[in-house]
Amino acid sequence: MKNKKHTLIKPHETIFKLPSKGLKKKDLIENFKEYYVNLLGRDEQSRNTHYAYEALGLTIRDRLMERWKQTHRTYKQARCRRTFYLSMEYLMGRSLSNAMLNLGVNDTANQAMYDLGIELEELIESEVDAGLGNGGLGRLAACFMDSCATLQLPVIGYGLRYEYGMFTQLIVNGEQEEKPDHWLRLRNVWEIKRLEYAHVIKFGGRTEVYTDEHGLKRYFWVETNDVLAVAYDTPVPGFQNNTVNTLRLWKAEATEEFNLNEFNSGDYAEAVADKVGAENITMVLYPNDANENGKELRLRQQYFLASASLQDVISHWVGLYGEDFTLFAERNCFQLNDTHPSIAVAELMRLLMDKHGLAWAQAWEITGATMAYTNHTLLPEALERWPVHLMQKLLPRLMDIIYEINARFLSEVAAKWPGDITVLRRMSIIDESGDKQVRMAYLAIVGSFSVNGVAALHSQLLQQGLFADFYSLWPAKFNNKTNGVTPRRWLAGCNPELAELITEKIGSGWVTDLSLLKQLVPYADDAAFRKHWREIKQVAKHRLADYKKREHDIDINVDALFDVQVKRIHEYKRQLLNVLHVIYLYQRLKKDNSKNFVSRCVLIGGKAAPGYERAKKIIKLINNVATMINKDPDTQGKLKLMFLADYNVSAMEKICPGADLSEQISTAGKEASGTGNMKLMMNGAVTIGTFDGANIEILEEVGEENFFLFGLTEKQVAARREHYEPEHIIQQDEDLKEVMNLLESGHFNQLEPGIFNDLIQSLKDPLDPWMTIADFRSYVDTQARVDDAYRDQEHWTRMSIMNVAHCGKFSSERTINEYNQDIWKLQKLPVKFG
Ligand SMILES: *Cc1c(COP(=O)(O)O)cnc(C)c1O
Repeated sequence: MKNKKHTLIKPHETIFKLPSKGLKKKDLIENFKEYYVNLLGRDEQSRNTHYAYEALGLTIRDRLMERWKQTHRTYKQARCRRTFYLSMEYLMGRSLSNAMLNLGVNDTANQAMYDLGIELEELIESEVDAGLGNGGLGRLAACFMDSCATLQLPVIGYGLRYEYGMFTQLIVNGEQEEKPDHWLRLRNVWEIKRLEYAHVIKFGGRTEVYTDEHGLKRYFWVETNDVLAVAYDTPVPGFQNNTVNTLRLWKAEATEEFNLNEFNSGDYAEAVADKVGAENITMVLYPNDANENGKELRLRQQYFLASASLQDVISHWVGLYGEDFTLFAERNCFQLNDTHPSIAVAELMRLLMDKHGLAWAQAWEITGATMAYTNHTLLPEALERWPVHLMQKLLPRLMDIIYEINARFLSEVAAKWPGDITVLRRMSIIDESGDKQVRMAYLAIVGSFSVNGVAALHSQLLQQGLFADFYSLWPAKFNNKTNGVTPRRWLAGCNPELAELITEKIGSGWVTDLSLLKQLVPYADDAAFRKHWREIKQVAKHRLADYKKREHDIDINVDALFDVQVKRIHEYKRQLLNVLHVIYLYQRLKKDNSKNFVSRCVLIGGKAAPGYERAKKIIKLINNVATMINKDPDTQGKLKLMFLADYNVSAMEKICPGADLSEQISTAGKEASGTGNMKLMMNGAVTIGTFDGANIEILEEVGEENFFLFGLTEKQVAARREHYEPEHIIQQDEDLKEVMNLLESGHFNQLEPGIFNDLIQSLKDPLDPWMTIADFRSYVDTQARVDDAYRDQEHWTRMSIMNVAHCGKFSSERTINEYNQDIWKLQKLPVKFG
């Protein structure tokens, strides 16, 4: 592919020189019209919001393109050290409004569209989300890309260009239905296909060994089925700084030589079918969050990402430095976003040895000095393990290498703990108990110079529990990087009214230095400011209510406390605890215990993995309880429960500005960090939460008086497990007993007998890993304190302001600066433009 000459003459340099595109209104209008009329072929008869969106998108992209190239040139000339972020997921959401914000053309574009009789908001809303991720982990990667560009760091994101992203969630008769998300059906104006950066990825076959003339063993991976990885680049603009970094996503295509033999031998249809098979690799995102999947196709995806990205980096290297790898580790760093891409450890070894002729020792030194691993979960069911026989079949050469890595590693372990067979067995990359499996997290730890968790508690629990052996072997490898979110999307972009108020008081520096929000503290005592703050929250609540009203057709009392829990549906996140509280409130209203009742609108949203039956049943329960409660005259104006269908990034942009209360109620020790908690805090929601993940750090920043802490701590949970008797707790607690009785009576499933039996049983099981019943009393009592606080609106507003004033730590710039100082060690490289 790369060797083919497509051009007969060399284009003159000047072909690439274009006058710079202006940022004035007239420039935008002129460019927009050209795209709308000429490229997209629109006229008076064919007005169309989507095409207008495309025309504006292309207009904006042109402005990015110039800066993008300049960024590329800047990095290339500097021959700087770079970081490559390897992630199976990027939950980017929409791009247009973010690109305009970062270019600083929001107002101009608004006026330009207005002059043309177009509502900019309508165009923005017509963009489909790029939903190439499941939840927190994928969104983290997107926030990181944004912050790296804003901090002017040479970081390139690598991922997969799934044809189908995260499914669209429909609710039918209260149940989740999954609709495939064919997001690329319409043109994606943000991506550029780059055929010149294509790489061949091998699967199957076998390893051949021979000894070369120097007596060295050389390995060949032969008789493989090859697939082509083709690059699609998306620009990642920094905030008003001319830096535009790259997110490179790989698409699988059939290789050119694809099964030529079969074509010639008459098996034409089979050959074409195989071609489709090759493209399957990047067809769909696996919709599992915090759960491994174990399917062969998933392993193919992981290897495809690792191999394409590493080949890309190495071929760039060879282009600049030839076959000399002496400085490779000094100039390159790979950050593995969870264990998903950890096969990269073995793949880098393979490429350096088999393709570039390095000896094991040198290749291993380079690998161990370039790889860094981020762990995202303590749930054992989420840690990937691949059967050795599958790895053997699909990636035979990599399996050889993993065995060799393991053998050398285990001799290091044996040297540290002589004669200790159990420690060898525990730490081995290959789990030999039962069907042999490769423990991918261990491969990542052994092959990396840095291992980090994503919040202080999480990193500490990794060191004490899951990875304790590795921690005692290599304590210096371990570190913490508490997650963060980008203030552009999660405050400046999604909450323009609040952003304006803040800027009016303290200036606009907070957009790139969120710690400056501390200057809001004195305003908490300013009554006029509080009034303004409340009005803005009220506008956002109206907007959220209107947006959801179309779907639910029920009247929402915007004076009610908006109580929000949006995140993936998972037992550990305990949406069930939230529902138990709603049922408790419902019973209070039914008993006419409604004096002093603080009106609440409880909003719950999130997707369940399609194969996770219990999570889907939780969605059904929420909807059934909602139906029963919302139609009851006794609850009118006082209590509403709504399930927000199809929770995604652009939904969250509407939800967080309107939230009063942020529900972060996972079983302590189970939520690695959480980032939804940070987005909601950033928009002035007060948290009710357990002592878990980044909640702990939020509490530390904002102070006890501005946070509703409840429930068992991680230590208490562990101790309690030994003698946990939920049935006993239920019998001792009148409120809980009534809630459970109502549930068990079938009150919420009168025409669907027994459908919630499994959920109810799971709560009452002494082995319930999530111990929901144990935290009920503390949760309900703390919710009563929430009511008290909300009744005093001045007090509540103060708390809300204090939350925003103390959210600075949770900017992803803070996180990225820490990654850079401790792990990446990149030079900030400003881009000169214009
Ligand atoms: C932030 C975000 C998440 C993560 O939420 P948690 O509450 O941290 O689990 C998941 N999905 C979307 C769409 C998000 O924006």
